[in-house]
Amino acid sequence: MEPAEQRPTADQVAAPRPAPDPFAPVRWVAERERAMLPGGAREVRSATLFLVGSECPFSCTFCDLGRHTLGRAATPAGAIPRQIVGALAAIEASGGGPMNGLHTVKLYNASNWFEERAVPGRDDAAVLGALAEIPRVTVECHPRLAVSGRCEAFARARRDGGGELEIALGLETSRPEVFARLGKGCDLGHMERALLWLAERRVVVRLFVLVGLPWIDAGEQVAAAVESVGWAAARGAASVSLIPLRPTPQLRRAARAARADDGRGGRGVAPVSLALFEDAVGAACEAYDERWGGPLVVRADLWDLDALPACRRCGARRRAAMRRRERRSRGWSDEEAACCDRCRRALPGEAPAAAETRS
Ligand code: SF4
Ligand SMILES: [Zn+2]
Repeated sequence: MEPAEQRPTADQVAAPRPAPDPFAPVRWVAERERAMLPGGAREVRSATLFLVGSECPFSCTFCDLGRHTLGRAATPAGAIPRQIVGALAAIEASGGGPMNGLHTVKLYNASNWFEERAVPGRDDAAVLGALAEIPRVTVECHPRLAVSGRCEAFARARRDGGGELEIALGLETSRPEVFARLGKGCDLGHMERALLWLAERRVVVRLFVLVGLPWIDAGEQVAAAVESVGWAAARGAASVSLIPLRPTPQLRRAARAARADDGRGGRGVAPVSLALFEDAVGAACEAYDERWGGPLVVRADLWDLDALPACRRCGARRRAAMRRRERRSRGWSDEEAACCDRCRRALPGEAPAAAETRS
């Protein structure tokens, strides 16, 4: 199995799934990723299962996950365990031995694990049983729903079985005035309290930070991303994934709203260039990534890397370098992924990153 070849493209991920069957086999992706473990960071094998269930009751500005769900209908009891068992069997059948040495299984249901309508609580025991041999199980959940007795019991059951629970949450940004505009149904205070609550219960936390948000000036984007990773590091997150905002209809709507609000946010919003993403990832890694002696793992989300506008001459080489860097266990030098003479940036008198064009 070569994970990269099985990974869905952005179009596949975004494609509508007409009338999904909650008892049918689900898509999954296997890959390698760096993860923070008790003894330090190392590369592990992980699998992401794209589960089908009820849609999320929140409506975050940039989320388009609702199209993969059953809508407002409740997820039928038994459906989620069946999807998980089926996916694990498919992973096992793809070769390599007992579940191919998986360390982490991510259960992404485009909603909130600890909401009864999305995942019936009576299914938790079956899910825990199916994943008993997996050292780390990751679920996604809104901070207001993560703080719950059900989450606490799930985490305890995982620990009692010798494993861990990880929760993935969308921080998006640590700038309160921007966070407040993202329609997340909570404020940064909720997020902070949830992280502290999870840390007390030894739940591992994985956060997502968006690069290219409206309401942040173009020249502030890198600093905002680094601040957000620092905010996460200070609150005990084990990892942060930086995600370049894609030029979705949601982004275009938000950019128009940003301009209408106060005239700001119109310049640096869409699309995020490869140069901006490189700069944000590089700066966040140097400040906080374990490869530079930092406290957590900084990941670059590469799923949409090919869609980021870049110099025609050196973009492909820089994308390849970015993919290699993601797998490296040590830091790197700037020369390794240098841009070409035509688009050289960050040097006085030469073209800025924003001059990059779609290749
Ligand atoms: S909580 Fe998560 S799944 Fe729900 S709308 Fe927000 S980003 Fe999407
Ligand atoms: Zn170039």
